[in-house]
Amino acid sequence: MTSPPRADSTPVTFAYTLRPVHVEFGTGALTRLRDMVNGADMERVLIVTTAGRRATAAAAAQGLGDRAIGVFDRAAPHVPEALVADALREVERLRPDGVVALGGGSAIGLGKALALRAKLPLVAVPTTYSGSEMTAVWGITAGERKETGRDPRVAPLAVVYDPALTVGLPPPLAAASGMNAIAHAVEALYAPDAQPLSTLFAREGIRLLATALPEVIRNPADVTARERAFYGAHLAARSLDLTTMGLHHKLCHVLGGTFGMPHALTHAILLPHVAAFNERAAVQAMSEVAAALAASTAPAGLAALQQALGITTTLRELGLRPADLDRAAELAVAGAYPNPRPVTRQGVRAILEVAYAGAAEH
Ligand code: NAD
Repeated sequence: MTSPPRADSTPVTFAYTLRPVHVEFGTGALTRLRDMVNGADMERVLIVTTAGRRATAAAAAQGLGDRAIGVFDRAAPHVPEALVADALREVERLRPDGVVALGGGSAIGLGKALALRAKLPLVAVPTTYSGSEMTAVWGITAGERKETGRDPRVAPLAVVYDPALTVGLPPPLAAASGMNAIAHAVEALYAPDAQPLSTLFAREGIRLLATALPEVIRNPADVTARERAFYGAHLAARSLDLTTMGLHHKLCHVLGGTFGMPHALTHAILLPHVAAFNERAAVQAMSEVAAALAASTAPAGLAALQQALGITTTLRELGLRPADLDRAAELAVAGAYPNPRPVTRQGVRAILEVAYAGAAEH
């Protein structure tokens, strides 16, 4: 006779805040955007997007009818200050009472900048796995520096996830963006403010993304895999919103903001190396990551997923120069942020060297 499983005796104590946000998820959900806009009391909506999402933005505008008063389609990575100024001039001219941000993190980032500066409510329609739609984190880049902050006013009031909108996401972008989403969940698991709910979201987010992404890459038209990957990205974004990110995010922001590295791909390249750096300092979190990836260790599982998704690019191939490694390491140790293992210049430099040269097995 087998005995019943023993009860876990770990004390359960936690605290968290969930902002009110209406989430509409499912293939075809874009048709419900008008209801979301009505629910947010918006009557004159400016849609912001990237040039590549123009056709989808036009379809969204058509669905909104006379509630859509304009489309600003020049959103760009890392939300440059000059672009925010241009978009604010458009706000001045059209006088919208709300913003719909449609696209990846760049479009949603611009929407958040308008929510911050023009105090307009925001509805988001994500088309990548960036996760920005679920957070109150904004970022604006002036010169070499990306300033970021947390403000509940920039968090979208409603989010429409339509997996059909991700079908056009080319495999390399889907792979990089998916690894970006996994990075949120990995750092959420070892965050100092992790608690049972963020851990639940993070674990399931990693599991869904790790199983769905290879299918998305193999068969880009597979809507079921797209749905599962997008759902995983949503959960990972929830875990991101509930916790404070560590070295991995800091390093990606430095490489993106100061050296112009592409956001999602930089996440995808660095993640196994930062996990290896933190592995022994975050034993429980790393065993959760390994279990969610069905791998022996977290760094090995992340490296295997990276391979399976065809991500072989190095920081050198992205245009980073040898002289940038020291400067990036210096910037990455500046400022206070939590990380399981103490962050040193040499430690960061070693991570960067491997990601630069593309060696290392975990
Ligand atoms: P992105 O928004 O720049 O999109 C990358 C490219 O993919 C763009 O050219 C875009 O037009 C195209 N694209 C988007 N959706 C597509 C689709 N469905 N089909 C085909 N092409 C598509 O990149 P991203 O990785 O989504 O976002 C990166 C930005 O998001 C960074 O600036 C990052 O800092 C920010 N971000 C912010 C948060 C936050 O919480 N504030 C979280 C994650 C990322």
